[in-house]
Amino acid sequence: MSLELIDGCGRVVEYLRISVTDRCDFRCVYCMTETMKFMPRDDLLSLEEIVDIVRVLIPAGLKKVRITGGEPLLRRNIVNLIASLKALGSLQEIALTTNGSHLAAYAVALRQAGLDSINISLDSLRPDRFREITRFGYLPDVLEGLVAARKAGIARLRINAVIMRGRNDDEVVDLAKFADLHGCDMVYIEEMPLGDITEHDRQVQYVSSDEVLDLLQQQSGPWLASSFITGGPARYFQHAETGQKIGVISPHSHNFCDTCNRVRLSAEGRLYLCLGHEHALDLRAVLREQGASAILPAVQQALSFKPRRHEFDLAQPVTLRRTMNMTGG
Ligand code: SAM
Ligand code: SF4
Repeated sequence: MSLELIDGCGRVVEYLRISVTDRCDFRCVYCMTETMKFMPRDDLLSLEEIVDIVRVLIPAGLKKVRITGGEPLLRRNIVNLIASLKALGSLQEIALTTNGSHLAAYAVALRQAGLDSINISLDSLRPDRFREITRFGYLPDVLEGLVAARKAGIARLRINAVIMRGRNDDEVVDLAKFADLHGCDMVYIEEMPLGDITEHDRQVQYVSSDEVLDLLQQQSGPWLASSFITGGPARYFQHAETGQKIGVISPHSHNFCDTCNRVRLSAEGRLYLCLGHEHALDLRAVLREQGASAILPAVQQALSFKPRRHEFDLAQPVTLRRTMNMTGG
């Protein structure tokens, strides 16, 4: 059997996003409801099992992993996981996505463990609005975390913001300026219809990436299309004078599935082949019942079922009950 990770459409998979917990200290309005129920801790894949899976996939071409959730910094021994992944030796990048609430306490340890890059979610720079969007978030904690990550020497920092009409679309330019001031890339995300939410209608509050780019061009341009890539779905633009990079993730307006190179491991060990479909392999069962040697053949077989593209449609009722924190963003 070939050693590579290739799906049924010929796309090479080299990027694994790993959700280490579905739990979170925030309840962002676009991500989950306030009464979200989390999975029992006993169902989680152990950190050793996560390392076993990554170890097996590296010789088959895995190059990048992203630790995410839920809020990954809530998982006990998260720094040990980063160190163990680093010790595997061959990954080109170990990345983290976090809401930043606990980052100040972890930044130095994460850097020492070998973390290469961090995406911090920051949807508003106004404390009251930040609290409304996240329901429980305290903005100064996140800002402190961002500064701590910069001081700790994390090589690449990026801010992610989901832009919603009437909630934060008037902060697009401010967010770009803030990111520039802190030496971060800035990425704007179109909200995706994952799971039911209660506080807004995703179709009504949808803001396209083109609209975001127009705002930026008018108020802080010129922004020029850039060939910069990070291995994810963002399209980047660079400021002609300052060199700052901003990106847009446009699941609705500019489908990126043709170049999809990633799969997601959920906190309970299900390997989701596409964010927008239920196709998944129970990798925890494979590992526990058949051992590590069964992982690669099982993943290769599952990849032949990786859907060609997501079918997100904001005009239709939500069909995917899985929220982003369950799959790993
Ligand atoms: N808790 C961490 C955080 O917020 O960065 C990591 C997990 S979170 C699920 C990962 C990313 O998914 C965040 O940038 C968040 O804004 C984004 N996200 C969550 N739900 C989303 C949705 N329905 N549409 C688009 N992005 C979403
Ligand atoms: Fe938590 Fe991240 Fe979801 Fe917000 S987006 S509720 S911080 S998992």
